[in-house]
Amino acid sequence: MEIEIQLTDRAIAETILPPGQPGAVGAWLEFRGVVRSEENGRTIRALEYEAYPEMAGREIRRLLQKISARHPCRAAKVIHRVGVIPAGETAIYVGVASPHRGEAIALLAEFMDRLKQDVPIWKRRAIADGARLCAEHQPQRPSNVQAAAAGSATTAALRSLDEARAEIRSRSRPLPAVRASLAEALGRVLRETICAPEDLPPVDRSTRDGYAIHADDASKTFSVVDTIHAADWKPRQLKTGEAVRVATGAALPCGALRVVMQEHIERDGDKLRVVRRENSTNVRLRGEEVRQGQPLVPAGTKLNAGALAILATVGNVNPLVSPRLRILHFTTGNEIVTPDQTPKPGQIRDSNSILIRGLLQNFPCDVEQGHLPENFEAAMLEIAARKPGIENADVLLVSGGASVGEKDFTRALLEQLGFEIVFSQINLRPGRPLIFGVNGPRVAFGLPGNPLSHFVCFHFAVAAALACLTGGEPPEFLRGQLGKKLDDKPCPRETLWPARWEWNAATPRLRPLAWASSGDITCLTAANALVRVPANCASLDDGAKVDFLPVAAMIGGG
Ligand code: AMP
Ligand code: MG
Repeated sequence: MEIEIQLTDRAIAETILPPGQPGAVGAWLEFRGVVRSEENGRTIRALEYEAYPEMAGREIRRLLQKISARHPCRAAKVIHRVGVIPAGETAIYVGVASPHRGEAIALLAEFMDRLKQDVPIWKRRAIADGARLCAEHQPQRPSNVQAAAAGSATTAALRSLDEARAEIRSRSRPLPAVRASLAEALGRVLRETICAPEDLPPVDRSTRDGYAIHADDASKTFSVVDTIHAADWKPRQLKTGEAVRVATGAALPCGALRVVMQEHIERDGDKLRVVRRENSTNVRLRGEEVRQGQPLVPAGTKLNAGALAILATVGNVNPLVSPRLRILHFTTGNEIVTPDQTPKPGQIRDSNSILIRGLLQNFPCDVEQGHLPENFEAAMLEIAARKPGIENADVLLVSGGASVGEKDFTRALLEQLGFEIVFSQINLRPGRPLIFGVNGPRVAFGLPGNPLSHFVCFHFAVAAALACLTGGEPPEFLRGQLGKKLDDKPCPRETLWPARWEWNAATPRLRPLAWASSGDITCLTAANALVRVPANCASLDDGAKVDFLPVAAMIGGG
């Protein structure tokens, strides 16, 4: 598909020409997202959008290519305006050309749904009616936009959930692929597309125990001229009136045969009589599953048992896959004691270590866990003493100390270890003090110590980074419906609300679970989803449409 992407700080033209020659496509679909003069009940004058232009361009292209694999279109043009965009003006223009309208509509709909989640372009602020569009609010010059791309302007601001996810996505790059045996490859991300090295099945095979005859042989009686077992290879031609005894799975001796089930014949020595004729030929034809050279398992697939069985079928025993991740996880806080201890007043048992260890089960990785003393220098010494060292870890996770109290040193620690802090707060509940840092190919998270925040941050942030590091796709929000009213006080932050996804309805039904605070994990036995509750939303009715992130799903245990 021909793709054109522009990020601009100028107004988007009123008329945009479709690509290619007139008449070459059947549909040219255009969409304009226009800034509304109202947001959350107040009148606004403009919205300010910010972007990492190179990454945004790359992600938009990637997204369009991915969606066009399902909805093939001829061309797409995306123009996104950044900087200050006055109400009434176009923030985004998308044009899609395709042979028929169906593909274009499907591609556009999916692209617009995914854009917010996947692309590092975010709404920085709404400028209230009456506010001056002062210098700070003027459209950013491309050079400023580039500075943001370098990361320098990114650390201070409070990130929205979408912004944070887009940044995690674009800053967590796939680690170099390795070759692994099939026994080692479960759960790894395939980094090459595996194509069929030959037709599957490679020859016509019988699906029954019975007798192979010519497909159009109308004889009443046959002579049995040979026997072919499943492991035999006996090519030969058959004459009219000849039959070959075949076992299930046996390679048929030549083309254009059918197999009469043994239940449908009467045999007398070398002679047989067909007593019933079926429509089915009882033959698995050569290449009917897949033709030589056709893709079997696409790159980017997280290899499950079924995919590994396909690789085994075609003899691909050393696929190119993501490496096992090396993860270092530290708890912090002098109040933390191990779960087998009885906490003295003021102390608390460590539940985050086992939580993280369990959640990491979904990712092939080697996990080292430890505890850091609540003293910066002592903590640095502890990290330095750790083997394998910090320099060999792909991911560093620190539980607690991510906030701004005087003992909260996670940010300083990560900086001291050479991590660039991409953001340090999210406008989210639970989980506001979440730090994300990068150091070359390595990523680090400072997770808020409260266990429910931990659970939430792991799923929307850490899991996304781990997926990207392996070259896979981060888990996406899905659309569902509440199966029970969600009652709450309005919160200025967006909330990821623990819920139970009920599997017995056509549309996913989400039952919100009770939680008292970000330290309350009593709902986690039942939680298998996080429902996205918009900021300032007091309650959502039973039946309300919601976005949700499936989490911690276990077959059988859900
Ligand atoms: P912090 O993020 O360090 O301010 O910690 C916030 C809350 O989380 C405090 O009540 C801590 O005691 C608690 N907390 C920190 N680490 C853990 C842990 N590993 N397990 C359980 N609770 C923790
Ligand atoms: Mg602490």
